[in-house]
Amino acid sequence: MNIIIMGLPGAGKGTQAEKIIQEFQIPHISTGDMFRLAMKQETELGLKAKSYMDNGDLVPNEVTIGIVKERLSQSDAKEGFLLDGFPRTIEQAEALNDIMKELNTSIDRTIFIDVPEEELMNRLTGRRICSSCGKAYHLVFNPPKVEGVCDLDGAKLYQRDDDNPETVANRLEVNVKQTQPLIDFYKDQGVFVNVDGARDIDEVFSDVADILKNI
Ligand SMILES: [Zn+2]
Repeated sequence: MNIIIMGLPGAGKGTQAEKIIQEFQIPHISTGDMFRLAMKQETELGLKAKSYMDNGDLVPNEVTIGIVKERLSQSDAKEGFLLDGFPRTIEQAEALNDIMKELNTSIDRTIFIDVPEEELMNRLTGRRICSSCGKAYHLVFNPPKVEGVCDLDGAKLYQRDDDNPETVANRLEVNVKQTQPLIDFYKDQGVFVNVDGARDIDEVFSDVADILKNI
């Protein structure tokens, strides 16, 4: 089973990905891991990517696509894979289709963990950090015993700049713009599945598992 998983920040994509690879025994192929492996193994493309990164430049599309192809051609991906963080653009999605054709296979499902933006805002802006020991809390999911102070040492909690509503809203907007064309692309391909992600982790996974069992 060849699966792509997608979701906006805070949707719980990483958690679902972990559960999928455990239950279905397929490799989790994330863009970050792929790059790290290619650089560690010093493949030609890995070295190319590294030279761009070392200079602080964006890695060109053809290098990224080459690294994806290298990874998907490896033996552990023959029986299937869970692709995470790729494709990010239509150009990459089309390149991925070409890679699949060359490998005589195709994408079976693209799963989108769907959480309304309001809920994502709640999830992503609720984090608070202890100014003394660094312990992380969440106003909704893991609140401190006394509002605004750390359970462990009574120090004041603060919100990181990354977590403030304006920054989070911008980040979401950028991601929505990037994701929507891919949703449309995979709908056209007939492999797109939407999963309601605004529920318990296990409820969400139960739906995901049903989808994958029926491939
Ligand atoms: Zn503390």
